[in-house]
Amino acid sequence: MDPAGWCALSIFLTSIVKGLGQTLARMTEPKHTTNYPEEAREMPEWHRGRVTLRPELCIGCTQCSMACPNASCTMMPGPEAPQNKKGLYPQVNVGQCMYCGLCEEVCPTDAIYLDKEFRMVHTDRAYFDYDWMDQSTTEGETRVRRHAHDKLAP
Ligand code: SF4
Ligand code: SF4
Repeated sequence: MDPAGWCALSIFLTSIVKGLGQTLARMTEPKHTTNYPEEAREMPEWHRGRVTLRPELCIGCTQCSMACPNASCTMMPGPEAPQNKKGLYPQVNVGQCMYCGLCEEVCPTDAIYLDKEFRMVHTDRAYFDYDWMDQSTTEGETRVRRHAHDKLAP
């Protein structure tokens, strides 16, 4: 083999050794990925997930719906309560919501907030029209009730 050939071979072998070294070094580092969805990572405190309501704290002041920039949050009639004499509660279309957090920011009683849930998957967009006070529908995985469910049911 001529000198140029030896030179090329040495560069090739050096690259292989370097690459293998990098691979071995990375194999000993802690993993940064999870086996999703079997292993779901805990979301940080500041995460803005699904908009959720604590109905017992809602006073029906309508500030959340007035602050909402894209009309995802609208007021709907619900049961009257000592703290909510008008019986008005927000309904949020989380399929349209842009998770800006303004409704949470203006709420004077912390009734509406963005929780940590991010796994909102369904084949029907109407599923995401959340009405927490619709007692006629079946209770889901949280206290959220689906207003649109009745309209779709046969
Ligand atoms: S997070 Fe923003 S877009 Fe979503 S309902 Fe609240 S105010 Fe509206
Ligand atoms: S959720 Fe908060 S801001 Fe919205 S109507 Fe109820 S109390 Fe008012």
